[in-house]
Amino acid sequence: QQEDKKEHFTMDAPHVVVLPFPAQGHIKPMLMLAQLLCHGAGGFNITFVNTDHNHSRLLNLIDQTAFSRRFPTLQFMSIPDGLSPEHPRTGPSIVDLFFSTNSVSKPEFRNLIVSLSQEPTCIIADGTMSFAIDVADELGIPVITFRTYSATCTWIYFHLQKLIRNGEIPVVEGNGDMDKQISCIPGLENILRRRDLPSICKLEPDDPIMQFYITQTSKMTRASALILNTFQELETPIISHLQSIFPTVYTIGPLHTLIDSPSKNLSSLIQMDESCIKWLDSQHPKSVLYVSFGSVIVLSHDQLLEFWYGLVNSGKPFLWVIRPDLVVDNNEPNKIPDELKMATKERGCIVSWAPQEDILSHQAVGGFLTHSGWNSTLESITFGVPMICWPMITDQQVNSRCVSELWKVGFDMKDTCDRSTVEKFVRDVMEDRRQEIMESTVKNARLAHDSIHEGGSSYRNTKKLVQDIISIHL
Ligand code: UDP
Repeated sequence: QQEDKKEHFTMDAPHVVVLPFPAQGHIKPMLMLAQLLCHGAGGFNITFVNTDHNHSRLLNLIDQTAFSRRFPTLQFMSIPDGLSPEHPRTGPSIVDLFFSTNSVSKPEFRNLIVSLSQEPTCIIADGTMSFAIDVADELGIPVITFRTYSATCTWIYFHLQKLIRNGEIPVVEGNGDMDKQISCIPGLENILRRRDLPSICKLEPDDPIMQFYITQTSKMTRASALILNTFQELETPIISHLQSIFPTVYTIGPLHTLIDSPSKNLSSLIQMDESCIKWLDSQHPKSVLYVSFGSVIVLSHDQLLEFWYGLVNSGKPFLWVIRPDLVVDNNEPNKIPDELKMATKERGCIVSWAPQEDILSHQAVGGFLTHSGWNSTLESITFGVPMICWPMITDQQVNSRCVSELWKVGFDMKDTCDRSTVEKFVRDVMEDRRQEIMESTVKNARLAHDSIHEGGSSYRNTKKLVQDIISIHL
């Protein structure tokens, strides 16, 4: 455990402890909120608690002197995650963290909190780490829960038991009723089909992971408020529903737009390869399709090849993030056909991890083939880049449905990735059906920007969050 650097804290400022779930898509928005509360909006003292594993990854990548100069009252501390050093902590095995953090990290978190030299004003805990709510209750510290999903997916999680009672869970693939409408979730009637439910809905009701989500979700309601990285105008009806569960819902997104460029790259656990920006500079406006599947999901070698053929056959230039651990059965990494390698040399660029926001805001990028992680979805909406969605796990199925059916800012390619389908969707988003979605894409990007500017909904909610924490402190 690290030393508590209280000497850098501002005397008398509120002290907020921030606890994310140990994955990139959770750490990024929560660290951006921490930076905002420390630097911009609040001037608060912040203790950001990572797991030991991510703590060293993050600190290896950031320039610690520059970081401390910029955020002098933000300290990092860490607790064990309960897994062995060799554990992959990605792909399907990421769920091991649900159970190990609850058993091993919980007492460690409690010890850390009581050892802090300035008592926390409040704890902001990830909804997937709701053991922090038990710790906060026990120690009499106010707690706010931060769900890193959309409002819509958060709302669906509150209906897991109802879905079980109504026989909608488990969703069984291939039994012919994947397109059946789900009508028991208020506000989402006529929108969701069974195939659009979160991936855990494929589990049996008594599966430990299903039970974990049910317990976590209900425990979140013991927090005094809910923070969501979304904006009011995108999900108005569902946010109203959530207000019937939580007395206060702070929608403060898109968080990445509230942070300026040098500091947003201070939340990456993986080294970024910036060389692709130079390559993008040489491409025509709106000509490039950006492809990324985020930090967790994995592909089979066959899926990789189907995507690759689809991209190449579309004839469009593409920039593709292929993480070193993206392909699981990659025993023969050189088994990429020469024709694909040649075509990629001509009009493709592949990197292992990229500065995604710089890419999405680059004038050469015209579309995004995404796994529909919530951060990626929100970033794409904000930068006005239309999407092709290929969701795989957790909330991604929901996000892709919202993108295509509700917000009309992209097309949903879920449950298939054969090369001809990929090729067709690439052509659709870049050319053939682009007109259908561009008006809505431009409109939603404007709404996102309006929300964070003075007077906008996320701007006001961030101010309110700051004020509310100050009033707890006084
Ligand atoms: N990201 C990045 N570089 C990449 C791919 C992704 O910086 O090459 C960032 C992206 O901007 C997003 C986050 O990683 O903020 C991924 O979060 P998301 O919720 O989209 O997906 P997850 O990784 O949780 O599946």
